[in-house]
Formats: sequence, structure tokens, C-alpha cells
Amino acid sequence: MAIERTFSILKPDATERNLTGAINALIEKAGLRIVAQKRIRMTREQAGTFYAVHKERPFFGELVDFMTSGPVVVQVLEGENAVLKHRDVMGATDPSKAADGTIRKLHAKSIGENSVHGSDAPETAAIEIAQFFSGNEIVG
Ligand code: GDP
Repeated sequence: MAIERTFSILKPDATERNLTGAINALIEKAGLRIVAQKRIRMTREQAGTFYAVHKERPFFGELVDFMTSGPVVVQVLEGENAVLKHRDVMGATDPSKAADGTIRKLHAKSIGENSVHGSDAPETAAIEIAQFFSGNEIVG
């Protein structure tokens, strides 16, 4: 199986409740290595670009408001099958539908304030990583 990279965000509802370490522990326990990480405050422009795919959705404005409401931790995760492995440990978008033991089941507040983001495919992971990290910031 190929070693893959995926992009992760610990969202403002998570940083606000001091859950960075708890969530990182779940990520690492799932077999993923955090090969880059920084805490930033997203601008509205960054959040709008990042979630451009959802621009026409009714919750887009709410999503940009939320993602810029506090600090986030952006990360690059590495491991075998990293994209799917990370999606598994995150759990479903809606925490009420997330499986037991997943990050969203354990920590998410709602479908909007759901603690974490993870890329949905290797191709989107590459684009998302490039939006926030330069090559020399990623140390595998
Ligand atoms: P993900 O890949 O599991 O994060 O889910 P999506 O790509 O479908 O949605 C992106 C993000 O938009 C989610 O993680 C939520 O933060 C937000 N979102 C999705 N659906 C809703 C919704 O119905 N209401 C609100 N307020 N936010 C939503």
C-alpha cells in the first residue's frame, strides 16, 4: 500500500475547548503521522478559497464565519492510505451519525461545528496542502 499524505484542520470549536492534544492523540493512534502542523487564524479570503466548492450551498456564509471565528490548527498527515484512514477516524460530517470512537462522535458540537476537516481524495489533499504549507515545512 502506498504512503499517502492528507490535509487536516482542527477547527475553531476544537481549539476553543483546548482539544488539540486529545484530537492529535486519536490521529496518531489511528496510525497517522503529523508531518507538519501550525496554528493560524484564517482570513475570510483563505476560508472562502478553501471551501469554494461549497460557495452555492446555503451554509457557506455560516461556514466562513465559523472557520474565521478563532484559531485553527492546519496539519499534514502521512501514512498508508492516509486519506481514507483519516476520514475513518474523523467520523461522519454530522456527529449524531458518526461511529463510536471517532473524533466527531467524541468531540463535535454540531454538523457545522464539527471539530475537524480532512481531505476527501489524494488530489484534493495535494491542493489543500499547497494552500497552507510550503514544501520545506513538511518533514516526513
Ligand atoms: P466533510 O467533508 O465531512 O467536512 O463535509 P462536507 O464537505 O460536506 O462539508 C464541509 C463542512 O461544511 C462540514 O465539515 C461542516 O463544517 C460544514 N457543513 C456541512 N453541512 C452543513 C450544514 O448543513 N450546516 C452547516 N452550518 N454547516 C455544514
